[in-house]
Amino acid sequence: MSSLRFKAVEEAFKKKAVEVSAPSKFTTDYYGKFVFTKSVMAKYLSKDIMKSLENAIEKGMTLDRTIADDVATGMKMWAMELGATHYTHWFQPLTDGTAEKHDSFIDYAGAPGESIVEEFSGKLLAQQEPDASSFPSGGIRSTFEARGYTAWDPSSPAFVVDDTLCIPTIFISYTGEALDMKAPLLKSLNAVNKAATAVCQMFDPNVKRVFSYLGWEQEYFLVDENLYATRPDLMLTGRTLLGHESAKNQQMEDHYFGSVPTRVASYMKDLEFEAYKFGIPLKTRHNEVAPNQFELAPIFGECNLAVDQNLLVMSIMKRVARRHGFRLLLHEKPFAGINGSGKHNNWSLGTDTGVGLLTPGKTPEENLQFITILVNVLMAVYKNNALLKASIMTAQNAHRLGANEAPPAIISAFLGTQITEVLNKLENSTSEEAIVMSGKKQLSLGIAHIPEVLLDNTDRNRTSPFAFTGNRFEFRAVGSSANCSSAMATLNAAVAAQLFEFKAEVDAKMATGELKEKAIFDVIKSYIKASKPIRFDGNGYSDEWKIEAAKRGLDCETSVPEIYKAFTTPESVKMFTETGVLTEKELHARNEVKWETYTKWVQIEARVLGDLSMNHIIPVATRYQSFLLDNVTKIKAAFPVERAEKLGMLDSSLIIEIGERIQNIKNAVDDMVDSRRQINKIDNEFEKAKAYHDKVLPYFDVIRYNADKLELIVDDELWTLPKYRELLFIR
Ligand code: ADP
Ligand code: MG
Repeated sequence: MSSLRFKAVEEAFKKKAVEVSAPSKFTTDYYGKFVFTKSVMAKYLSKDIMKSLENAIEKGMTLDRTIADDVATGMKMWAMELGATHYTHWFQPLTDGTAEKHDSFIDYAGAPGESIVEEFSGKLLAQQEPDASSFPSGGIRSTFEARGYTAWDPSSPAFVVDDTLCIPTIFISYTGEALDMKAPLLKSLNAVNKAATAVCQMFDPNVKRVFSYLGWEQEYFLVDENLYATRPDLMLTGRTLLGHESAKNQQMEDHYFGSVPTRVASYMKDLEFEAYKFGIPLKTRHNEVAPNQFELAPIFGECNLAVDQNLLVMSIMKRVARRHGFRLLLHEKPFAGINGSGKHNNWSLGTDTGVGLLTPGKTPEENLQFITILVNVLMAVYKNNALLKASIMTAQNAHRLGANEAPPAIISAFLGTQITEVLNKLENSTSEEAIVMSGKKQLSLGIAHIPEVLLDNTDRNRTSPFAFTGNRFEFRAVGSSANCSSAMATLNAAVAAQLFEFKAEVDAKMATGELKEKAIFDVIKSYIKASKPIRFDGNGYSDEWKIEAAKRGLDCETSVPEIYKAFTTPESVKMFTETGVLTEKELHARNEVKWETYTKWVQIEARVLGDLSMNHIIPVATRYQSFLLDNVTKIKAAFPVERAEKLGMLDSSLIIEIGERIQNIKNAVDDMVDSRRQINKIDNEFEKAKAYHDKVLPYFDVIRYNADKLELIVDDELWTLPKYRELLFIR
């Protein structure tokens, strides 16, 4: 009998909800306690220093070294009061997640060996040269000249985790190329600010700045820790490589928005308390569609900060899960046959005058601005649909998009009936019809009547990868484990490039004497026509859509290594370089890293799958087969063969099926190993990744199919791996 599995199940069943209590009755008492926010800073820094820092943050001005020294001193004081003894530059390498190297504050006061002081200078705050030479750089920074350095991002506040002061930083090579996710994001925010501000000023000259906002919805699974420990695939790859569907999974939809299981409810509470201490404004929590799947979302915020908070929350989620006897699964598709996890990126733009640029307005002018931004976003998504898909694609997310039982890997935009009607009306009207005179002898579009609250706000199309939801777009194709930076930098850059182009087109028309409103209308109208193929309000999961999308010329590629090529097409290179977000060299280098990462994941999964097959599935199946064979011998000894045969007691079909399935698995594992051996000789990262995709992945399906069939016929008592029903329903 498989003692480990049953012991794990037994232990898991015994667990009770962990009691948690709020740090204080009022959230405001401890909210942001570990964050060096503006109001905290004001207590540690002088007014002048605060002013310079604000200038640096808001206007992107470089910080004076002496100011950095003062900020560092204040920051150190604050951090030490919270118990910090170390500091780290917290950065976001290309492999997702975050990285940190901790240094203690201590230094010799004078000669070595003498007394020590606790020091933290502006230099240490502003820049660090971590020996991070093993982080992937796609060849930009060869390891022997390991000179990448981290540089402080003052626009995201420092925070204290345990005994360490964490300073958000970018990570760049000595020659200035971005080696991380944050640097391009910051550049894209800058670009979209510039482009959108220029466009907004056509409507309201008071606009001085445009912010990009992000509200992420983080989906995740929880699995009992004991069960997790007996699944090598979950431990090493974050997903189950094998496992037959549970007889009951999500068909009844009884989990979605149902009451939260008690152990999980206390996890969620604990998690919220922790997140609040870090100033992460978690707002919603609920069950998701699949069993043991949940979601949380904060109040949206400025994009750069929201990205950092998401990265921080993912690590807090992991830690808190352990306290509750759970393991957190952020993988995009941990279980076959049920929903995967995403991270909807709710995205919008807003001005420093407080206007949401994707919020329909109250006046015709506001609505003209709204339509302008909306249509430009559509145009950007249309032109860059392949690229946007590339920005969210990983080995993991590919199982959620484009694979079996998953939405297709095609980017389209959902607008809802009301906005669609408005666009149709605009498209089919002449400028004279569309533009009506307003009182102020100005012209404006005759689209004053977009209701403030869009009725079909609620009638959401859950299958759309990019949906307009009343005051924002939801980029839903983003994966649950992803760093939102990739998607957000790409989207912001694409929208920035589009808005620059729009402004130039309108300006050109105005230069010929055309009225502003007519010029805007004409350009918008041409965009509405041109971007039509990206609009799709139907069922994105249907097979018909795949055919239709291909006809429309949308990118339908499903192979991850191929998808990444969208980053280096001439159009993408132009878009990224013109907006100053990424250089051609960086784009190529980053693709090298993506291919390498892809290869590594498939490689690891292939190894784990081989191990599971040889060390779990085949031995267990063989044991059961042998038991059945024994039984045949015993039957033959006990009964006359003829009688036994007549009664069907000698039916050997089960024995044969087991034998065949074992053989199928064994052959596939052998072939897969051979195939890997060949592929590993390939030098070119793209070719290698492509070969892993084309030649290794297909074995996964064969192995899984046969192993999952065995799971159905082999004695349950012998089966070593916890089954789906145990992983998904014990909590
Ligand atoms: P739903 O599940 O209905 O999509 P949620 O409330 O779970 O909605 O999440 C919506 C997310 O979108 C939240 O983080 C919310 O703060 C964010 N959001 C709302 N309005 C905007 C906006 N204008 N721009 C960006 N994000 C927004
Ligand atoms: Mg949503």
